[in-house]
Amino acid sequence: MAKKGRVFSGARPTGRQHLGNYLGAIKNYVALQQEFECVYSIVDVHALTTVETTKDLTSNTFDMALDWLAAGIRPEESIVFVQSHVPQVMELHTYLSMVTPLGKLTDLPTFKEKVRESPENVNYGLVGYPVLMTADIVLYRTDVVPVGVDQAPHLEFARETVRSFNYRYGAAVLKEPQMKNTEIPKVLGIDGQQKMGKSLNNHIELAATPEETRLRVMQMVTDPQRMRRTDPGNPEVCNVFSMHKIFTPAEDVAMINQECRRAGIGCVDCKKRFAENLNQNLAPFREKRAEIGANPATVWDVLHDGAKRARAIAEETMVSVREAIQLPK
Ligand code: SF4
Repeated sequence: MAKKGRVFSGARPTGRQHLGNYLGAIKNYVALQQEFECVYSIVDVHALTTVETTKDLTSNTFDMALDWLAAGIRPEESIVFVQSHVPQVMELHTYLSMVTPLGKLTDLPTFKEKVRESPENVNYGLVGYPVLMTADIVLYRTDVVPVGVDQAPHLEFARETVRSFNYRYGAAVLKEPQMKNTEIPKVLGIDGQQKMGKSLNNHIELAATPEETRLRVMQMVTDPQRMRRTDPGNPEVCNVFSMHKIFTPAEDVAMINQECRRAGIGCVDCKKRFAENLNQNLAPFREKRAEIGANPATVWDVLHDGAKRARAIAEETMVSVREAIQLPK
């Protein structure tokens, strides 16, 4: 089937992936491969703006790539690579920064949020983060970028930057990417309160063993109003129920919905069922992960081959960019 165009998406190397990563990004990455030519980057340079230590950068990159491949990203179709393996992105970032007013960057809500979070670490790279992100996207002549509502201002920024660059150098050198509005579900952690994330230690890793998964699931917070086994529950406020809706067959979900409301099922049993279903759903992923992981060189081969393919596209773009700027040859 002819593909509809090229998609780009990048994610910071965060190591072994969890359910939140899977439902929020990886599942969509896998699905997009049907219709688009996909370029997926592990953006290690972006990580440098906030990480305290780089000692785990390589292992985190490896683990993330391994999880992506095990989850169904197909390197024979999609380009999967590490951002820093394509140095052209740094060059384009520099040129784009010359057409970017500083005030526009400091006005972005995400920048203000980062300043609030870590006022002691407001570095130059952090301010220019959206410019590097724009370089990531346009370097590969991307047609479409899947974004959730939160990231929409960043893509709009990228589109404006492309227009400024093309206007400044009088040529339609860079392609303006289109936004693909994507519903990104907010996956709550086992605390049932906050978004699932490693830093909060409220996550369930995809590659955890069935027993580790079961133990994590049994720690999940349920309907806070349901104090005793005999109290009727409210599935609509229960995170375990939200997860059942994703991983449990529809007829069982309907049964849990009904039985919970009349205290016909207890939370312990409900969580046991969920753990079983989750483990069943994750079994093929874990099997594939073990198979690929048995030979770590294959993961690096995928990333190096991806970088080679990415560099070929990037260099073509940069030839036109340098020409448009009229840099001396
Ligand atoms: Fe949640 Fe299930 Fe307990 Fe109902 S029975 S509150 S759905 S864990």
